[in-house]
Amino acid sequence: GFVDYYVLRPLLGQRSFSLDDFVIGNKLGEGGFGVVYKATGVEDGETYVLKRCKDYGEAEIWTNSRLMRACPKYIAKYQGAFYGPKEKGAARGGGEQSIWKRAKSFAQKAVEVDDSDDDDPMWLVWKFEGSETLNGLMQSKEFPYNVEPFLFRDSGGVAVEGEPRGPARKKAIIQRIFKQILECLSGAHATGIILRDVKPENMIFDPKEGRFKLIDLGAAADLRFGFNYQPKEFILDPRFSGPEEYIMSTQTPEAPATPVALALSPALWQLNVPDRFDSYSAGVVLLQMCLPSLRSDDNLIAFRRKLEENGESLQAWRKELPSRMFTGENGEGFDVLDADDRAGWELVKSLMFKEREKRSSATGAKFSRFIVGKNPFVTVLDG
Ligand code: ADP
Ligand code: MG
Repeated sequence: GFVDYYVLRPLLGQRSFSLDDFVIGNKLGEGGFGVVYKATGVEDGETYVLKRCKDYGEAEIWTNSRLMRACPKYIAKYQGAFYGPKEKGAARGGGEQSIWKRAKSFAQKAVEVDDSDDDDPMWLVWKFEGSETLNGLMQSKEFPYNVEPFLFRDSGGVAVEGEPRGPARKKAIIQRIFKQILECLSGAHATGIILRDVKPENMIFDPKEGRFKLIDLGAAADLRFGFNYQPKEFILDPRFSGPEEYIMSTQTPEAPATPVALALSPALWQLNVPDRFDSYSAGVVLLQMCLPSLRSDDNLIAFRRKLEENGESLQAWRKELPSRMFTGENGEGFDVLDADDRAGWELVKSLMFKEREKRSSATGAKFSRFIVGKNPFVTVLDG
């Protein structure tokens, strides 16, 4: 349609690729919307990531292109996209089945042929940033010490000099990670982009830069341009979405196809503070980083269920926890949250308010006590 030819095609031309430019390697992931492969560039020998999209390829191209211009530090280095065959050397189009599919679309639509199934799929290309996501890193018993050397390279690889492992050092590391995550979100939001799929699986760790970056941007909505793809299926992950998630999936309009529709689209920006959708997910991520008990899928789901039963009150959830949850590594996590007059706990609560309007924005959270420290002005006055 219009968007495809007049908006996306020019964007594809960041650098022109074809499947022949890569040697496809291991599969890195397979979601509902595509297959992700590691690949090697034939010409430069560099490592890339290729995603063959089933759906939402356009949305992902759009978001990547916008954020590569606005805040390139905060997302995986997007290289471009191309239409290509499913596999190298695979036959394209044709075949009896596709003819009948075409006939069926003719019959249904009369004018327009919907031959999308016969089209070459869309491939997206990024630089390979690293082999671990925040989710992978959190599955290790070593977390967060397994990222510490990369995050604090400038200060000898330790968060707090002379500090043995324990809540204080853990807090310093988690604070650094979460600050990076908030910077990513804040950067996207400043561009008018709401990510809608913020979770540890979608944060890749770049050990060279010592930074977490966002990946998997196909669920994002662009408030400025009105791109707000209506999820065909339920693409919003209920483990990380705020309790209002159903608003997003039932009231958001279809992606507008023409400039007129773009202008008239009653899109997300009519919802109050739509960026706070991502705030909630960020709050869940912070909680998981602190509390190992929330890192497994089952426990995370049980936690969300319990929250719902408690009217979304974190305080009530915490009060009901059995005492063993306050011992060992998990207890240490609560110490991290409670340190400095509950700076972390207050931040989590402010991000996870039931009412979206009350939630802290990502930018606001960057200036919270948990991130900035006790009092940002004390050092200035002391100095
Ligand atoms: P989906 O979740 O739809 O399968 P993602 O974009 O999240 O697709 O990618 C799947 C997996 O591929 C990620 O979890 C990550 O492990 C890996 N991956 C994606 N992009 C990159 C990248 N730029 N560098 C390194 N690994 C990546
Ligand atoms: Mg993903």
